[in-house]
Amino acid sequence: MTMGNNKDLYPWLLGSWSHLIEYLGHQRIPQAVMISGQKGLGKQRLAWNFAKSLLCEQRTSEFRACSQCSSCQLFSAKTHPDFTVIQPEESGKSISIDQIRGLTSFLSLSSQFNNYRLLIINDAHRLTHAAANSFLKNLEEPVEKTCIILISGFPSALPATIRSRCQILFVPAPKSKVAMHWLQQQQISEHLDILLEIAQGSPLIALEYAKDGVLESRKSCFNDWLKISRQQASPIIIAEHWLQFPDSLLLFWMISWVVDTLKCYFNQNPDKCYNSDFESSLQELAQRLELKRLFKFYDLLLRQKQHLTSQLNKQLIFEEILINWSQLCKK
Ligand SMILES: [Zn+2]
Repeated sequence: MTMGNNKDLYPWLLGSWSHLIEYLGHQRIPQAVMISGQKGLGKQRLAWNFAKSLLCEQRTSEFRACSQCSSCQLFSAKTHPDFTVIQPEESGKSISIDQIRGLTSFLSLSSQFNNYRLLIINDAHRLTHAAANSFLKNLEEPVEKTCIILISGFPSALPATIRSRCQILFVPAPKSKVAMHWLQQQQISEHLDILLEIAQGSPLIALEYAKDGVLESRKSCFNDWLKISRQQASPIIIAEHWLQFPDSLLLFWMISWVVDTLKCYFNQNPDKCYNSDFESSLQELAQRLELKRLFKFYDLLLRQKQHLTSQLNKQLIFEEILINWSQLCKK
């Protein structure tokens, strides 16, 4: 397989791609495939490429879509009658039972191209309980020449009855060398290791962070964190100031700072600090904090992480965390 034909697939997807095209090669298209793997790896791109290839009328010898036939043109124009996508209507919302019921007509018509029909369910873990049950009926009564691709970063949130009817394709995060090389090709040259670390290995998220200046925000928040620890800043004012940053990131950072402080406590030279660029400050914190209270504070962070999704008053949550942090650091 040459890279030239795969310029629209990220390099780390090629392994998963070769699994998918085996189905085409053997002409055994599964009824349902679940593409799983963490956020930011391009799972959608993989699914869309497969859909285009499956529907194409004159695939290349490498099972790539020709991009010229009428099917490919309709696909690119997003008007292919044999292709449909179901996903939450707004990011973070559920997929409703009405959306699943709406599929009935798509699945009952015969293919317009006398070929396969393909349905993608994006963020499949967002199916409500009722929607999942309704969808299960589609899996239990398969329609001929129909392939359903479910995409989910959290497949375990789906009923086992659905998962067990899918071929599972797990997309792994790339090795850091591959991810770094790709980021360099995207003109990102600084702090690649830290970017990937805080993006939990997802190159697409690391790229987004680099473009959004997330490392600068993280550095500024860590400075606030240190200031509070030295009683040089008010937790209330910092909590208000932090409202401009995404709360899931803030909590992830604070948890990682505390975990690293604990690592430094037990080992003077931890080899696996998440925040290697902050190591000297974290060492310093480890030397002056009390272990038992640090563990208690860590518990508080984990509890608040669960509250954040439901709790509306985020400022209050961060006030509580930072006040506790300030008290923990008092001599
Ligand atoms: Zn084509």
